[in-house]
Amino acid sequence: MEFDVAIVGAGPAGAYAAFELARRGARVAILDGSHPREKPCGGGITGRALTLAAAAIGDSPLASCRIRTARFINADPDYSEVVDLDSASNKLPKLVVMARADFDARLLASAREAGATFIPERVVDVAVESTSVRVETARRTRCRAAFIVGADGANSLVRRRLARPFSRAQLSIATGYFVDGVTSDQIVIELTATPPGYIWSFPRPGHLAIGICAQADSRVTSKALRRRTEDWIAATQLAESAALRAYSWPIPSLDADSLAALELSGPRWALVGDAAGLVDPITREGIYFGLRSAQLLSDALVDEGAGRYATSVRGDIISELERAARFKSAFFQPRFTKLLLRGLRESAAIRAVIVDLIAGQQSYATLRSRLIKTLNVPLAWRMLVQGAWRV
Ligand SMILES: Cc1cc2nc3c(=O)[nH]c(=O)nc-3n(C[C@H](O)[C@H](O)[C@H](O)COP(=O)(O)OP(=O)(O)OC[C@H]3O[C@@H](n4cnc5c(N)ncnc54)[C@H](O)[C@@H]3O)c2cc1C
Repeated sequence: MEFDVAIVGAGPAGAYAAFELARRGARVAILDGSHPREKPCGGGITGRALTLAAAAIGDSPLASCRIRTARFINADPDYSEVVDLDSASNKLPKLVVMARADFDARLLASAREAGATFIPERVVDVAVESTSVRVETARRTRCRAAFIVGADGANSLVRRRLARPFSRAQLSIATGYFVDGVTSDQIVIELTATPPGYIWSFPRPGHLAIGICAQADSRVTSKALRRRTEDWIAATQLAESAALRAYSWPIPSLDADSLAALELSGPRWALVGDAAGLVDPITREGIYFGLRSAQLLSDALVDEGAGRYATSVRGDIISELERAARFKSAFFQPRFTKLLLRGLRESAAIRAVIVDLIAGQQSYATLRSRLIKTLNVPLAWRMLVQGAWRV
């Protein structure tokens, strides 16, 4: 079988690249042996991701929870601040939460309707040869393509074969539980200093996805994280006596130096989404960056030549992720999060900034100037100083 492009992995990044390329006339193969499947993920899809992929998502409704509010809590049992995410003036939701089985299946169906050939098999080998790329699956299907796209997630085989695998220091491990039979229209977030990050509850249709994340090279074990999540579920009373299903999964979480040195493409190959390492190290939003990198790659392959892809990703995505990475250690310090929570309580302007950050509508490039412009100048100023701002 001969194709213009072979895409390994049919998550959001791979399926959206297949959709964009096939509808512009490329002969596309997309290979993934895992569907139908649920991916361990919060499933939070921001307004900007929904807008970007609107043509592939289509008009028929997908089962989702439209999130009306975000509740911030901290270790103090009395602290709880609820922020409205869904004011009447918003036509588009700021955030919806979906089962990844549904969202990914919809994107893959659209790619197939656009003309992509789906090969439901796991890829076990890829090799770039002088005039084409060879791809082989676990069921010994072989195909050739002029170009290969690695969209096969954090443990990417394409990355391991054609570039370098992520080191443990470049990954974080998310651990938690799906809570069956409980749902809500509210996300719950507790910012934590150790490990630096947050514990979340994201409601999906029919269940909650609850979890916590830590760098893979930190001394915190998955067992300890799971215990922490169990204690949190008990303290927040979010799950009562519901059944818990455990999950654990890696997320690329690169520091600024690693982001600056990322290998994104080479002769006849490119990486998109998690395989490329494109996840916000603070919010861990990855779906938008997977979709956006797929779009940039499709534009480069169709219009400008593959060489343009890495430059586009650096300007459009990596510069923003680098700012987040530089800010991360200060962001989760208790001195800063305390002020942030105070800001949520006291200042409508700071609440608006946080809402936009959750919705992916607030860039790190303009976060500083926007905070300074809030009416609560003394508080914003202390946040900037405590945040040791270098973004
Ligand atoms: C617990 C957790 C919570 C998260 N919450 C959020 C959130 O709420 N919002 C958000 O935006 N992001 C979130 N993320 C990040 C998000 O899940 C990823 O960034 C996103 O899924 C990346 O999409 P992708 O298409 O690049 O990779 P993936 O979604 O990982 O898809 C990769 C696909 O490749 C396939 N594959 C792998 N190896 C092979 C192979 N050898 N051959 C063929 N196919 C292969 C896999 O089966 C999979 O279908 C979360 C991540 C985790 C772990």
